[in-house]
Amino acid sequence: MIPDEDQRALQDVARRFARERLLPYYIERERIGILDRDLVREMGRLGLLGVDLPERHGGLATSSVTTGIIAEALAYGDFNVSAVQVGTSLLGAILHKNAPAEIAEHWLPRMVAGEAIVAICVTEPRGGSDAANLQLRARRDGDDYILNGEKTSITFGDCADAYLTFARTGRPEDGARGVSAFLVPADAPGLQRRRFDDVGSRIIGRGPVFFDDVRVPASQLVGPLNKGFTEVMVGFDYSRALIALQCVGAAQASLDEAWAYTTERQAFGRPVAQFQGVTFPLAEGESRIAAIRQLSYHALALRDAGLPHTSEAAMVKWMGPQTAFDTIHQCLLTFGHYGWTKDTPHQQRMRDVMGLEIGDGTAGVMKLIVARERVGRAAVQYQ
Ligand SMILES: Cc1cc2nc3c(=O)[nH]c(=O)nc-3n(C[C@H](O)[C@H](O)[C@H](O)COP(=O)(O)OP(=O)(O)OC[C@H]3O[C@@H](n4cnc5c(N)ncnc54)[C@H](O)[C@@H]3O)c2cc1C
Repeated sequence: MIPDEDQRALQDVARRFARERLLPYYIERERIGILDRDLVREMGRLGLLGVDLPERHGGLATSSVTTGIIAEALAYGDFNVSAVQVGTSLLGAILHKNAPAEIAEHWLPRMVAGEAIVAICVTEPRGGSDAANLQLRARRDGDDYILNGEKTSITFGDCADAYLTFARTGRPEDGARGVSAFLVPADAPGLQRRRFDDVGSRIIGRGPVFFDDVRVPASQLVGPLNKGFTEVMVGFDYSRALIALQCVGAAQASLDEAWAYTTERQAFGRPVAQFQGVTFPLAEGESRIAAIRQLSYHALALRDAGLPHTSEAAMVKWMGPQTAFDTIHQCLLTFGHYGWTKDTPHQQRMRDVMGLEIGDGTAGVMKLIVARERVGRAAVQYQ
């Protein structure tokens, strides 16, 4: 993928922001553990959020590839801050396509400006892989719906301004065909949230969201009734390719730091770069990350061309986090004992990318999707 002139201009802005504002405080940010909303607004002012949305909503109407370029550049500086940009594009695309005009006009410009974060609530305590089998209930009551149940493992769970919540409006036996999506503001009475004590990505505040008789007007329905799964939740091919590029960005940061170290660190009277036992593992990581980068941009280019890209997106979604983890691990080892402290970023990057070996669908589920794309329902006979 060779960026054009406009893409290069945005890439330069994102890279400068990542290297000057994000990277130097990546470790410190985890120690504080809270998402800095001023930083999110700064990304909005720089025009880095929701670039793919139409201009009337504050975006630049750019391509998915351009969004990927920004995701990769931001994740180089801070994997977790880049999650805001990826989330804005995922939720932005869903709301733009499905939300009533009133909701889109209220939320999209705020998201693009970095003033609002919208979370997506699918997973429930009984399980996430079998997502369509959800139980949180939305019951019609006059002009409103009343939501009862629990979502869990929600990114930005304790800090979002609104929650795109998938709820059962049909019969349980209807499966995916009885689910609808509602936009629920964080201050809706009856909504409560908490955060988990996570292994990584601590600033994104992952946690459960509880709905206790939460009343929302029927006008907050996003997409057609009972079609939440079949029509609204189709944006995941997009976020899967973007997530892979986040992982590529994080791994590239560790690779760049490790390569530099190999020329500085001396052992046996020479720079360790002269030992192929040191450079070959890094060269392998560099090669694998380069391959995943290209397939990720290819998936996004297919999306921009209106062509199917489900398989490519699932491929990079499982390979991206796993390969980034292995590559960053190798970089940590390159630093010897210095790598084994919390003052160097590799351990944190490993923990951060590991979360996305699970989030947005596990590697097992991604491989199932690749198999289904090849042999159809024969690959998922239990459905
Ligand atoms: C960092 C992070 C962020 C997240 N953010 C969000 C969010 O914003 N919104 C949201 O709704 N959810 C979110 N999640 C939840 C995530 O989507 C689920 O954890 C994921 O879908 C898996 O569900 P589960 O954890 O319940 O595992 P389960 O579904 O219980 O699966 C357990 C294990 O069995 C495997 N497995 C299950 N079924 C199959 C199968 N058919 N074939 C092969 N293997 C299978 C899984 O791969 C897994 O290893 C997040 C999770 C993490 C870790």
